[in-house]
Amino acid sequence: MDQRRIRYPTAPLTNTKKLEHAMSAKLLDGKGISKEIQKETKVKVEQFIADHGESPVLAAVLVGDDPASQVYVRNKERACARAGIESQLHRLPATSTTEDILAKVVELNEDSQVNGILVQLPLPDQADSRVILDAIDPQKDVDAFHPHNVGLISQGRPQFLPCTPHGIVQMLKRCGIETTGKSVCVIGRSDIVGKPMAMMLGQKDSDLGPEMANATVTLCHSRTQNLASITQQADILIAAIGRPNFVTPDMIKPGAVVVDVGINRTEQGLVGDVDFDSGKEVAGFITPVPGGVGPLTVTMLLENTLMAAIIQIKSIA
Ligand code: NAD
Repeated sequence: MDQRRIRYPTAPLTNTKKLEHAMSAKLLDGKGISKEIQKETKVKVEQFIADHGESPVLAAVLVGDDPASQVYVRNKERACARAGIESQLHRLPATSTTEDILAKVVELNEDSQVNGILVQLPLPDQADSRVILDAIDPQKDVDAFHPHNVGLISQGRPQFLPCTPHGIVQMLKRCGIETTGKSVCVIGRSDIVGKPMAMMLGQKDSDLGPEMANATVTLCHSRTQNLASITQQADILIAAIGRPNFVTPDMIKPGAVVVDVGINRTEQGLVGDVDFDSGKEVAGFITPVPGGVGPLTVTMLLENTLMAAIIQIKSIA
């Protein structure tokens, strides 16, 4: 065994000053990287419009008036406009049933002008999200939640990549952080972030090259025993839990890359799943909240909408 690799503490530390390798992490600037990718997407969209005479179209379905969902949808509309992608907003009342929402999804599936469909989550309790997401045409499934697309991802031949995990891989790549051979710990096993993230990084290859796959991945969750003993060994730690400041410095391997997916609204404002102020003293690289993973999620949605338009043009050619 390479003794030089055993740098993480073997017992939880409560005081980061005790760490021999204490340092201040470099910030992974998700916001800046998003801007860079959005510029590239804009150029590709302009080429698509020049070639086909029409813009890609994204249709968002917003059910009810959840304030956070309204903000997310507005951000997506603005980002579409910046990239030259046309966006449609289909609002349905909070009292909508599964059938009401399904009817809208079917209408959008059949509309040849619409390339991408997203149903903003969460849906009201009476609506069955699974049934609704399963009804989206897999070729228009820009969130990559449909079982057909999840199956393709698990086989390592994705049609669309889910936006948040894809954004994270893009960020790592653009910051020169390779995943091949690395020990990665993902905390959280949601279908939206944790599970696809673990699948993508554990694959043999990726669209961004084998150096952005081939990790040894441990997927942790609420029933994981001795969580800190696992996270302490991770070269790359990805937190997608939804609990403010859950990851404390003693859980981080000194010098590790820490990616914070969490968005938690607290009295202190928006905070992530990682205790940023103390975590940055141990990590080598860290994403801030806000301004880290969030902007990348929206950005990859634009890429997926363009991809959907290209796939649909090819399938009718
Ligand atoms: P989720 O809310 O569906 O599930 C949370 C996961 O955390 C579960 O798998 C659970 O097993 C795990 N978990 C809960 N308590 C735990 C514990 N004590 N120890 C270990 N694991 C535990 O997850 P989600 O939808 O992936 O959301 C997670 C967070 O990420 C939320 O804050 C959400 O708002 C945020 N999010 C951000 C973005 C973005 O673009 N930045 C995108 C999606 C989600």
